[in-house]
Amino acid sequence: MTTAPGVPTIDDGELVSTNPATGELAGRFPVADPAAVTRAVDRARAATDWWAGLGFASRRTRLLRWRALLANRISELAALSHRETGKPIADAVVEILAAIEHVDWAARNAKRVLRRRRVRSRLVLVEHSAHLEYQPYGVVGVIGPWNYPVLTPVGSLCYALAAGNTVVFKPSEYSPAVGQWLVDSFAEVVPEQPVFRAVHGLGEVGAALCRSGVDKLAFTGSTATAKRVMASCAESLTPVVLEAGGKDAMIVDADADLDAAADACVWGALTNAGQTCIGIERAYVVDAVHDTFVEKVVAKAGRLTVGADDADIGPITMPRQIEVIRQHITDAIDRGGRAVLGGPEAVQPPYVRPTILVEVPEDADAVREETFGPTLTINRVADADEAVARANALPYGLGGSVFGRRRATELAARIRSGMVAVNSTLTFVGMSTLPFGGVGDSGFGRIHGADGLREFARSKAVTRRR
Ligand code: NAD
Repeated sequence: MTTAPGVPTIDDGELVSTNPATGELAGRFPVADPAAVTRAVDRARAATDWWAGLGFASRRTRLLRWRALLANRISELAALSHRETGKPIADAVVEILAAIEHVDWAARNAKRVLRRRRVRSRLVLVEHSAHLEYQPYGVVGVIGPWNYPVLTPVGSLCYALAAGNTVVFKPSEYSPAVGQWLVDSFAEVVPEQPVFRAVHGLGEVGAALCRSGVDKLAFTGSTATAKRVMASCAESLTPVVLEAGGKDAMIVDADADLDAAADACVWGALTNAGQTCIGIERAYVVDAVHDTFVEKVVAKAGRLTVGADDADIGPITMPRQIEVIRQHITDAIDRGGRAVLGGPEAVQPPYVRPTILVEVPEDADAVREETFGPTLTINRVADADEAVARANALPYGLGGSVFGRRRATELAARIRSGMVAVNSTLTFVGMSTLPFGGVGDSGFGRIHGADGLREFARSKAVTRRR
């Protein structure tokens, strides 16, 4: 079997994943046909009474054991993620640390957030009492992407598990080995019942999971697939949480600390080779500081190394995305934009060197569509109000950031998104106490934090006559 490095293939009924830079084999797993998907859901369902019946304290103990395992074996998991997706080890480690934080928080806080509680209501008759209960859905289907193959699924499934659900997980076809590692490691600390299982394959396996009778579906991936997932879950009224694509903007006001803003911009735009849903893809900078800001970003981004091992920027994980990145760069230049770093020649598969584009018309693909590569547009605006208008002009609304002092809080409140960072970028993702999710084409529903726990539990009203 010969295929291009990094392209997932089906060989003899098995899904094969390889490193996008070297073609080295990463994983081989049997592809689940629709009957196998249904069997996995049935087996998970058979374990739901046991898992839910353990109660918060026992689930907490088991989830904290998994947390300890993840922490003890972080090097092993980071190496596997590096081998399978090509991402630098440092990026893989940071990602796993954030995932560990979520497991820890979900385990420790599920009881506090979801316990049965008395509710006082003026409408309740004098001789009645009222209670609010949260009950697990049952089996939660989790469909994940490849760009953060640990953090994205764990950021949903640890909350689902802590709330008392069992989970059937469909990892991305680009990262099945990382997905299976998570399942196997969980089985080491919870060997009694299959409360967390995986099914492998291409998109049709995810589609089969949507139709399998799961009680809730948590999807993370592109906006186009999110729409298909929602349409297919609509047939059975299966509730969904959709974490979809983004095109986050950064606003730099005239009174911003430009060094800090440039540092955060380079990190926000280029970490993980720009393959980040909440990555900064557009910057709007007020006229007075635009040129200085561009100079600083170009100087910092130009120092980053690109390559297979120990480089700041690794290969593009999904080979077909390289053509999208190339097209966005050439389209921006064809429409009058300028590359002040990189450019079309920066695209050298499987790598793309950092590319910074300025003066890019707002109707260019690089401004309107998710590029998902180490590229950034920086456009000049007259003032911060124009920056907000441009930031809000797209249907996406995942995250965003504002740099400045006097008006920063007000501007942040006006950004149409599920999350916003003031004087930093990406910081909300690692905070287990905050909800994560978007608006518009970036999806709906919330994972992480107390809202994330409630996302995976049904509220139930109970009244009682004394
Ligand atoms: P994708 O939509 O191509 O695939 C995501 C998952 O959906 C994969 O497991 C895939 O096999 C599965 N799938 C494909 N077709 C399906 C179908 N018809 N029904 C059900 N499942 C199906 O996305 P990707 O390329 O893996 O990930 C990159 C995208 O994910 C980017 O758009 C990025 O912004 C987004 N993302 C969003 C978040 C977030 O939290 N909002 C986080 C990470 C990535």
